[in-house]
Amino acid sequence: MKIVSVLGATGSVGLNTLKLLQNSKQNFKVLALTANSNYKILSKFAKILNAQYAVIADVEYLPKLKVALKDTTIKCLAGQDSIIKVATLKTDIIFSAIVGMAGLKPTIWALRNTKVLAIANKECLVSAGNILISQAKKYNTKILPLDSEHNAIFQVIDNNNVNEIKEVILTASGGPFWQKNKKQFKNISVREALIHPNWKMGKKITVDSSTLMNKFLEVVEAAILFKLDLKKVKILIHPDSLIHGIVNFIDGTSILIASKPDMKIPINYALHWPIRKKNKFSNLDLAKIEKLVFYKPDLEKFPALKLIRYLYNNKFYECKLIVINAANEIAVKNFLEKKLNYLDIVNLIKKTLNNFKHRVVKSLNDVIVIDNEARKVANKLLNNWYN
Ligand code: NAD
Ligand code: MG
Repeated sequence: MKIVSVLGATGSVGLNTLKLLQNSKQNFKVLALTANSNYKILSKFAKILNAQYAVIADVEYLPKLKVALKDTTIKCLAGQDSIIKVATLKTDIIFSAIVGMAGLKPTIWALRNTKVLAIANKECLVSAGNILISQAKKYNTKILPLDSEHNAIFQVIDNNNVNEIKEVILTASGGPFWQKNKKQFKNISVREALIHPNWKMGKKITVDSSTLMNKFLEVVEAAILFKLDLKKVKILIHPDSLIHGIVNFIDGTSILIASKPDMKIPINYALHWPIRKKNKFSNLDLAKIEKLVFYKPDLEKFPALKLIRYLYNNKFYECKLIVINAANEIAVKNFLEKKLNYLDIVNLIKKTLNNFKHRVVKSLNDVIVIDNEARKVANKLLNNWYN
């Protein structure tokens, strides 16, 4: 039996994980589930999966969580420190599925006492990738990506010689707007941006997918995870999301990884890694799929992808990544609250980047300080944005 914990258990990735665990109770023992404020779903699944701990970040909800779990032996805890505490308990696999930089400390701490860190949280990988990788090495923990593209590529190049790889290609659905006329972008509403053609996900990543900021983050994520030069990570628009990643090798061979667009497939792979387990997922029926189409992304329509150029000049590379990620988190939050126009999401990121005093990043503390500072710069810019 594998011991498993899920950080961010009530989100889109988290719930997909819990549903798989529910169908595979004989193989897993659930140690801890955590959530931000949704005590109802947290308590429901803590009971179903007979978890040992249910942890809510927002202390205000602790009394309600306790009432919901009063007839059980499940231990109820609250606060960010409690999330970190349960993240360090010994597990075979722990899921990092909190959204944004709120997941950073639990993810870092989780690396100490688990065999596998199954990571969905790309914001942490982008902002503190090198620290995560070096901690994983120190504690002999395997980092296994859940992001569908990276999970696909992991299945091909884990243990492969990086020198044999010419480039990797991440596919992008293109989100809801890739065919929309650029002139209409300025009026895009929150409601429109939250409709994703292929995936049902949390709000933040859904907006990121529409601006293609998600793909920017994923390019960096791939470079970090697979130790590749940024220039070796490419993007293709593939609206059907059936091919998730492509690895082009130096000998002219390419491996394409295909599956239905369902996050349960990469999550299930991670749960059972290093073995593959028979399940109910069907493979693609290629004879029924008339064609697979791919397009080059339009950088003029999606300026988020141009941000990659800020990184080619390697100076303060890590600092720039923290700032871009933090500014994007602030921009998306304000867009969702209808305080920022759609096109200004990337404008705010660029302006924050240009207004920031970049410096060398040496430690986790540097990451946290720079992240906070970047948020302050972005918020200050926002205060005068439409004046
Ligand atoms: P979501 O918004 O649906 O869920 C986020 C989870 O984090 C929830 O359980 C929430 O309670 C918890 N959380 C939020 N703020 C918190 C805080 N301050 N403290 C503690 N917990 C907090 O998000 P999601 O779509 O599941 O995405 C999670 C992560 O996985 C993101 O980084 C996203 O980019 C990545 N990802 C998601 C998908 C997907 O299919 N949803 C695919 C690939 C990668
Ligand atoms: Mg992805």
